[in-house]
Amino acid sequence: MAHTVDPTFVNELAGYGASDIKACFNCGNCTAVCSLTDRGAAFPRKFIRYAQLGIKDRLAASKEMWLCYYCGDCSATCPRQAEPGEFVAAARRYVISQYDPTTLARRLYTSKAFSLGFLVVAAAILTLIMLAGYGSMPREALRLDSFIDVAYIHYTGQTVIIIAGLIALLSLITMVNRLSKALNGIASDGGGALDEAANRSSFLAALKTAVLEVAAQTRFDKCNAEPTPWFLRRRFVHLSIMWGFLGLLAATGLDLLFKEPFSQVPPYYPMRLLGTVAGLFVLYGASVALINRITQPDKYSAHSLLSDWLFVGLLWGVTLTGFIVEIAVYLPSGSVGAYIVFLVHVVGAMLLVLLLPFTKFAHAVLRPVALFIHEFRTTRPGA
Ligand code: SF4
Ligand code: SF4
Repeated sequence: MAHTVDPTFVNELAGYGASDIKACFNCGNCTAVCSLTDRGAAFPRKFIRYAQLGIKDRLAASKEMWLCYYCGDCSATCPRQAEPGEFVAAARRYVISQYDPTTLARRLYTSKAFSLGFLVVAAAILTLIMLAGYGSMPREALRLDSFIDVAYIHYTGQTVIIIAGLIALLSLITMVNRLSKALNGIASDGGGALDEAANRSSFLAALKTAVLEVAAQTRFDKCNAEPTPWFLRRRFVHLSIMWGFLGLLAATGLDLLFKEPFSQVPPYYPMRLLGTVAGLFVLYGASVALINRITQPDKYSAHSLLSDWLFVGLLWGVTLTGFIVEIAVYLPSGSVGAYIVFLVHVVGAMLLVLLLPFTKFAHAVLRPVALFIHEFRTTRPGA
């Protein structure tokens, strides 16, 4: 298969946070030290070679970028300070931007000014829409239904979800098409009935592997096995954020289906309880992630882009304001501060969803499918 070569590709990747990968002389140290290297993924030397040669399609079709958990072990041992771990993260940002049909991801990744401008304008528009539904701020109790007309929140929220969902879906379809093409077509097969049965079994096995990898993330423990209490290990922190976020989504969905908007329920009401527990996990995970980024920049955030901070910062802020509102709802009186926190919470949650296809969050949608395709492609008959 012929490949298109772009000699300026390394420079392009620098805009996504990659360090000077030209310094790499292919010694292979990084591959030797990475505990995630396996039969289908030679971290990250081969991957870097594709970038040096400017073979974009091979790099974009690599499994490595979806499996790397960014422990930084390879960067710490690179004799040329080529920062291979950061390079993998930058390459992942690059491919996410290539799948995005709006080009917004590319602008958010490559321009700090655009990221800030986008955030400010989107937050201002959402705030104005919410304020258009403003009613009053009763003080005898926190009456959120009187504060902002629930229809404004619901219809704006639904619009944001639909826009983000459609863009995420288009990105996903683009990724599947490109990966399939690059991996020589996962749908094609040369077989009859016997191969069909084997294909089905490979399909199910690949599905199981990808689901288990995403749900339990056991490979995190292989990565960066330095002595750390279990509650601070990156696997636990990442799982807390992921499962907590899914729990919050479930609690919100069930609330919409089975509960009158803003109606008072006791703290032990099942959906409220689910939301509280899930929110605690997200708040814990996002807090540890932020603290690590701030206190250990060399390890966790030296090459982070503003859009990476946006995601984890918004997640933390939205969860924290959610808890403040939840507590305020049970207090005997309402306050202007609590109403404002509610407004910040609603706008922040909408921004978080809106940014889903364009930030670090995108990997939550793309990664499981990419892993499945790779697994299926490398285990099916004739692969
Ligand atoms: S990135 Fe560093 S460790 Fe890896 S192959 Fe290149 S020079 Fe060697
Ligand atoms: S950052 Fe960690 S997981 Fe990623 S390639 Fe380097 S050693 Fe492997």
